[in-house]
Amino acid sequence: MKRTHAIIIGAGIAGPTMALFLKKAGITAAIYEAYGDLSDIGGPLNIAPNGMHILHALGLAQQVMDHGAVIDTNTFLNAKGKCIASFVNADARKFGFATVSIPRAELHRILVDAAQEQGIPIHYGKKLKNIRDREGQPVIAAFEDGTTAAGDLLIGADGINSFTRSLVLPESPSPEFTGVIGIGGFTDASAAEGSGLLAPNVMYMSFGPGEFFGFSRICPGNASAIGWWVNLPVDREVPKEEIRNVSLEKMKADLLIRFKGWHAPVENIIRNTNTLMMHNIQDLHNVRRWHKGRVILIGDAAHAMAPHAGQGASTSMEDAMLLAKLLRDPHGNYGQVFEDFQLARQDRVSSIIEQARKYGNSKKILSPVAVAFRDLFMRVFMRLFGPRLNARVYAYRIHWNE
Ligand SMILES: Cc1cc2nc3c(=O)[nH]c(=O)nc-3n(C[C@H](O)[C@H](O)[C@H](O)COP(=O)(O)OP(=O)(O)OC[C@H]3O[C@@H](n4cnc5c(N)ncnc54)[C@H](O)[C@@H]3O)c2cc1C
Repeated sequence: MKRTHAIIIGAGIAGPTMALFLKKAGITAAIYEAYGDLSDIGGPLNIAPNGMHILHALGLAQQVMDHGAVIDTNTFLNAKGKCIASFVNADARKFGFATVSIPRAELHRILVDAAQEQGIPIHYGKKLKNIRDREGQPVIAAFEDGTTAAGDLLIGADGINSFTRSLVLPESPSPEFTGVIGIGGFTDASAAEGSGLLAPNVMYMSFGPGEFFGFSRICPGNASAIGWWVNLPVDREVPKEEIRNVSLEKMKADLLIRFKGWHAPVENIIRNTNTLMMHNIQDLHNVRRWHKGRVILIGDAAHAMAPHAGQGASTSMEDAMLLAKLLRDPHGNYGQVFEDFQLARQDRVSSIIEQARKYGNSKKILSPVAVAFRDLFMRVFMRLFGPRLNARVYAYRIHWNE
C-alpha cells in the first residue's frame, strides 16, 4: 500500500516535531524551510512540563535537560530586590518534569538533528509561494526558486506570519501587537556573583513600576550562563528596520538607563551581555479555521501566544503530536481529522493566549503607591494560588498508545 506523504512548510519548532511524530505514525514527510539553517538564532525559551512530555515521547527529554537548566521554582521580586513570593511552580514529582530553560537555538538544533538522524529530508532555501489543492490530484507546494513538491497533505508550520495561512485562509485575522517590546539575551553566570540570586533551579522575575526583568540559569553549549529577558511597555511597534539596525551597545545603554538602580545583578547582567535580541511581542488569536481541503496549520501559524506564559514552543509541539496521532490510522478523510484536531486544541490554546496576555498586561507606568499595592496584592495572591496557577496547563497529556 502506498504510504501517506506530508509536505511540511517551516523547519522551526513545530515542523521537525511534526515530521518526527509522523514518522512514528508510519507517514513520510519532507520539510521545506524558507531560509538557511537557522539553528543559531533566538533567545532563551522555556519548555514547561507539558512540553517536556512531548519531547519524552520522542526520546529527546534527557538531551534537552542536558542542554538547558531544569527550573522548578518561581521567585518574584520587586525592583529593590525584596522577595514578593517564591514557590515551587513546576514540581517534577507532580508533573513528571520540571520546566527547562534553554536557548531556542539549542532546542531547534536538537529537533533538527533528530529529524535528520531519522532520514527526514529538510530542504532549505524553499520559500513557499503557492499551494495547489485540486481534487483527485496530489497537493502541490510551489516555491520561490521555481521548484515544487507533491504530497497527500500539507502542514503549515511556518510561524506567526504564516504564508500558508495567507494563501489558504486569507480571511484569518493578522497577528496583533500586544503593546510590549521583548528583549532577551545571554550573559556569563559570573555577572550574578555576589548577588545571592542565581540558584540553579529558580526563575527570578522582578517587577518595577512598568518594566519587568526575568532571568535564570541556562546552559548554552557547556558554559553555565544566564538567560534573561525584559518586557517594556511602549506606545508603538518598533519598525523592523529600526530593530535590524540598532546596535548591541545602544540597546545595552538604553536598558541601563531604564533599569538604573534595580537590585543586583540586573545592571550587571545587562552590562556583561554580548548577545541580545529584540522583538515586538505579537500574538494571534481567533483564527476561526485552521484547515481547508488537505491543508492544515499548526503551531504559531494557527495560534501564536505572547511569551509571558512560556508556552509557545510547548503548545506547538503538542499540536504536532496530536495531529500525527489522529493521522495515524488510514482513512483518507483529512477534513474530519483536521476538524477533530482543531476541536481538541482550540479551547486549550485560546485560554493560554488569554493568560499570556494577562501576564504581560503591564502597559502603564505605576506610581510608587500603586507599586506598593501591586506588590501586596501579588504577595497575597501568589501565596494563595501561585503553585496552582499553571497546574491545569502543565498537567495536559497526549497518550500516543491510546
Ligand atoms: C528565528 C526565530 C527565533 C525565535 N526566537 C525565540 C526566542 O528567543 N524565544 C521564544 O520564546 N521564541 C522564539 N521564537 C518563536 C518560537 O520558536 C515559536 O513561537 C514557537 O516555538 C512556535 O514554533 P513554530 O514552529 O510554530 O514557529 P517558528 O519557530 O516561528 O518556525 C516557523 C518556521 O517557518 C519558516 N517559514 C516562514 N515562512 C515560510 C515560508 N513562506 N516558506 C517556508 N518556510 C517558512 C520560518 O523561517 C521558521 O523557521 C523564534 C522563532 C524564530 C523563527
